Amino acid sequence: MTKKAAGKKAGKAKKYVYFFGSGKADGNRNMKDLLGGKGAGLAEMTNAGLPVPPGFTISTEVCNIYYQEKQEIPAAIDREIDVQIKKLEKAAGATLGSTDNPLLVSVRSGAKFSMPGMMDTILNLGLNDAAVEGLKRRTTNGRFAFDSYRRFIQMFGNVVLEIPKDVFEHEFDAVKKATGARLDTDLDEKALRDVVTRYKGVVQKKTGKSFPQDPREQLKMARDAVFRSWMNARAIEYRRIYDIPDHIGTAVNVQMMVFGNSGDRSATGVGFTRNPATGAKEFYGEFLINAQGEDVVSGVRTPQPIRELEQVLPKAYKQLREITTRLEKHYKDMQDFEFTIQDERLFMLQTRSGKRTGFAAVVVATDLVAEKLITPKDAVLLVDPESLNQLLAPGFDQDEWKKIPAITRGLPASPGAASGQAVFSADHAVEWVNQGKQVILVRRETVPDDIHGMFVAQGILTATGGMTSHAAVVGRQMGKPSVVGAGELEISESAKQVRVKGQTIKEGDFISFDGLSGEVKLGRVASKPSEILQVVNGTLDPKKSELYRRFNQLLTWSDKFRRMGIRANADLPDQAELAYAFGARGIGLCRTEHMFFGEGRIPIVQKMILADNEKDRRKALDELLPMQRQDFYGVFKAMHGEAVTIRTIDPPLHEFLPKREDLMVDIARLEATGKSGRDLNEKKTLLARVEQLHEFNPMLGHRGVRLGITYPEITEMQTRAIIEAACQLAKEGVKVVPEIMIPLVGLVKELRDQKAIVNRVAGETMKANGVKIKYLVGTMIEVPRGAMTADQIAEEAEFFSFGTNDLTQLTFGFSRDDVGKFLRIYQEKKILDRDPFASIDTEGVGAVVRTGVQLGRKTRPDLKIGVCGEHGGDPSSIHFFENVGLDYVSASPYRVPVARLAAAQAALAVKVGD
Ligand code: PEP
Ligand code: MG
Repeated sequence: MTKKAAGKKAGKAKKYVYFFGSGKADGNRNMKDLLGGKGAGLAEMTNAGLPVPPGFTISTEVCNIYYQEKQEIPAAIDREIDVQIKKLEKAAGATLGSTDNPLLVSVRSGAKFSMPGMMDTILNLGLNDAAVEGLKRRTTNGRFAFDSYRRFIQMFGNVVLEIPKDVFEHEFDAVKKATGARLDTDLDEKALRDVVTRYKGVVQKKTGKSFPQDPREQLKMARDAVFRSWMNARAIEYRRIYDIPDHIGTAVNVQMMVFGNSGDRSATGVGFTRNPATGAKEFYGEFLINAQGEDVVSGVRTPQPIRELEQVLPKAYKQLREITTRLEKHYKDMQDFEFTIQDERLFMLQTRSGKRTGFAAVVVATDLVAEKLITPKDAVLLVDPESLNQLLAPGFDQDEWKKIPAITRGLPASPGAASGQAVFSADHAVEWVNQGKQVILVRRETVPDDIHGMFVAQGILTATGGMTSHAAVVGRQMGKPSVVGAGELEISESAKQVRVKGQTIKEGDFISFDGLSGEVKLGRVASKPSEILQVVNGTLDPKKSELYRRFNQLLTWSDKFRRMGIRANADLPDQAELAYAFGARGIGLCRTEHMFFGEGRIPIVQKMILADNEKDRRKALDELLPMQRQDFYGVFKAMHGEAVTIRTIDPPLHEFLPKREDLMVDIARLEATGKSGRDLNEKKTLLARVEQLHEFNPMLGHRGVRLGITYPEITEMQTRAIIEAACQLAKEGVKVVPEIMIPLVGLVKELRDQKAIVNRVAGETMKANGVKIKYLVGTMIEVPRGAMTADQIAEEAEFFSFGTNDLTQLTFGFSRDDVGKFLRIYQEKKILDRDPFASIDTEGVGAVVRTGVQLGRKTRPDLKIGVCGEHGGDPSSIHFFENVGLDYVSASPYRVPVARLAAAQAALAVKVGD
């Protein structure tokens, strides 16, 4: 957009700035795209008549314009902001820069999705040399006025003028030293005036200009700094981790300041309407008396639990309880809120759906239904499918855990068992994890810059901060076990050690903690399956697990709303049983070659591969047959008559042989010791065959259907094993319909060749057993040519299953094995937003899938189509598969619960979209 165009739009049709105050707001809760989560929440709370300080929101569109216009805001938008400032001054009864009654504002970021602490905030804006005297006059508190001014210069200097914090801290410490002050609060007005003078000197020296005195100029600069913070490194990293697109931009909220730091009848705090760690229905949060905004979240002071507010400021506490209860009913979800009490008067600064652990998500959703606040459908939509993984994460083996005494205890911020080697910086955490170690990130407090270290650590342990400190909020969101505010830890990040009760823990020492109890212990502790898994495995009575009851309830509701079937990728009977217990109804992919790795089988498989004639090969296959039959029997049985798709052998044969280098070393060693004989000869034969089988690009080599075509006896053996197992079960009265699947088909003739073998052998086997069973022969669609000729392939195939792993590899031309080398750079450079092997590339690979579906169903309108690549367990890919009309998704057993919930959400979204 050109400046002129933006200006024209801003002046006439388009609105860029939205007011809230005096009981009425221009926006509402549904305008998160435009106003961001914070802005939409402030508007909604204002409309609901809650005590919200007035202000206005500069929309996310302005952020995009700012970047399009090379970091400038068109004049027309500036004019629109000026109009809103006038309105705000009227609503606040105060004027920017006034020497009697100055208006002070906060300037905060606020994107559609919450990004805690990632972007910048400026408080007390509007103060200057004249206004600070006005503030003193109004509050009759000179100390407070000058403390506010020095905080403002420091924050503005750092965020907007990019002067390092420690330059200011240096001056501050100098004044403290000169006046003999021990604490910040020991400084009186005179000393703080001195600090202000020194700070202004810092600004002059560092920028060559004096500190801006015009509040409107301050506001413009602060606004632009917030827009710039959208693109700071940590915000970009955060968006990458959470898949938040860059183009949505942030809004800027300008709001009248209220002061939680104006004395002992003032406070500031944050809270939740329910416990965000466990989901329990309890009023939850913390506050600090005589403190300002960020003091609580930054973890600098450890705050008091919110229930203590009832004793200190009972009237404000009662009002806060009433308001937050109303908010939860209004939004029909657990709320996370921020408040400030100024001289006993309560102000609400924010409300939004509270971030929660997976445990809390399930508990809150099921409780809200029980309380008749929401319907089961709402409950299904309320829980992030990925968060269910936390419920499946292991805990400690309690017997082991109890044996070790706790060295200390902190606040249980995010549940889960964490054990690993202590590291004291985020960078070290990443380094050590890259070396294959498991680490616990130990910090005095975490800051947004630590995000990369937190992401890779097993758990996060901090010495300061409360349950809503950065470490706690981010830990919970990541589903990372976290214990915070373990105040006995004396951490020296520079010496890379922590002292606690006379003991020293050095970098690399093992520590463990429990994110549910807050206990911290020395050493490594074995973990134990989660409660859900214990029920699923049959080691815990479901009646004894409240958590399982809720988990199961949510997933049973999901099953009612989903259209697609949920199958599992399982190769062995025990995996199939687990998948069934997790709710999979059918197997979408049984990779038969995984059975070849079973105990005692590799030598037989190697014999088959080493055979240089069909007869010897058949002999080895005859030995394998009963083993495969037994596995198939077990897998069929575990699925209780649900469909089971079995794939014929897929990987290149060299994968079953020893590595070439290892063989060469062995041979050299044998020869060096002067040994000869059978052992040496066998190794030499093996090496010769390995060299013969060597491929430059095995992923594109002799694998999949190509093996079945060149060694038809393998397909024969596998078909016989499948059909014999099914016949045996049929005789036992268990009905099974095997689906025999041929991999990597790109040409209909490949499938025709294999189908003929399957049909012939199946016929012979059934005849020999005197049993007739129904079976299907289908194919994987994982080669783009297969998708593009799916109409021809469907003439032979009785079902399709998209192998999106290979399809992604072959559509992009990215090797599945080597993509890691450049993928991160692609993501950093925004060439790719996401890893296409984890989440389907809907535009490219998705288009190939869509074509395959359309062409396949052109030939066979009722063709059964599923997906069995990794994407089958990925929520956003599941949405795509719902849209293209697949019949089922198949996911690994542990991802089955995620897939059930995601498929329900996808079906509901499609219905809403209709
Ligand atoms: C696929 O390619 O998506 C697939 C499921 O097969 P594999 O991962 O075994 O190649
Ligand atoms: Mg494949």
